[in-house]
Amino acid sequence: MEKTKIVFATGNEGKLNEIREIMRDFLEKYDIDLISLKDAGIDADIVENGSTFEENSVIKAKTVSELTDCIVLADDSGLEIDYMNGAPGIYSARFLGKDTSYDVKNNYIIEKLADAKEGEREARFVCVIACAFPDGKILTERGVVCGEIAREQTGENGFGFDPIFYVPEFGCTTAELSPEKKNEISHRGRALMGMTKKLEEYFGNR
Ligand code: IMP
Repeated sequence: MEKTKIVFATGNEGKLNEIREIMRDFLEKYDIDLISLKDAGIDADIVENGSTFEENSVIKAKTVSELTDCIVLADDSGLEIDYMNGAPGIYSARFLGKDTSYDVKNNYIIEKLADAKEGEREARFVCVIACAFPDGKILTERGVVCGEIAREQTGENGFGFDPIFYVPEFGCTTAELSPEKKNEISHRGRALMGMTKKLEEYFGNR
């Protein structure tokens, strides 16, 4: 029998591999292939014009769902910094321009928070995963990891804002965590684990 396919609305293979790792037990249990837009032969023009992570992830999942009979997952994530009134938030990927390096972006944020005292440096990574089913049903799941903006960049792992995102619980930035540990505690890991539970119920009840 042909394997069931779930499309993840991304073209980023690195991200997809990370997600496959987090969902591995579920994918193996139900013999599911998690495939990218490219693998599914989908070339979608997605306009992310929502005003929340939820809205944007649902827009992505729904747009792709209209082009396939498969279940579609999509995510939207970003960094909210209290001292910057929640910025960059849903604009994280575009913050200071798509082609600006994260070294420059991270130093800009450190500078912005130069006068912020302890207790004023709170920030959080947020991720929302949306799932669109062929019958039009939509589910969303939010994952959050709380931390503080560090005074300097530290760590080589991860990507994006990881070198300035300090997690007091672990005493280091997310760029200093191993990929396995980051998946376990990250916004994306948490949202995906929550969504996987919901999908387990769906597949278990079929
Ligand atoms: P997207 O959801 O893949 O579009 O990610 C949005 C943006 O949020 C990324 O381009 C990064 O700037 C930021 N971001 C999301 N998750 C992380 C993370 O785990 N570490 C560092 N930056 C992140």
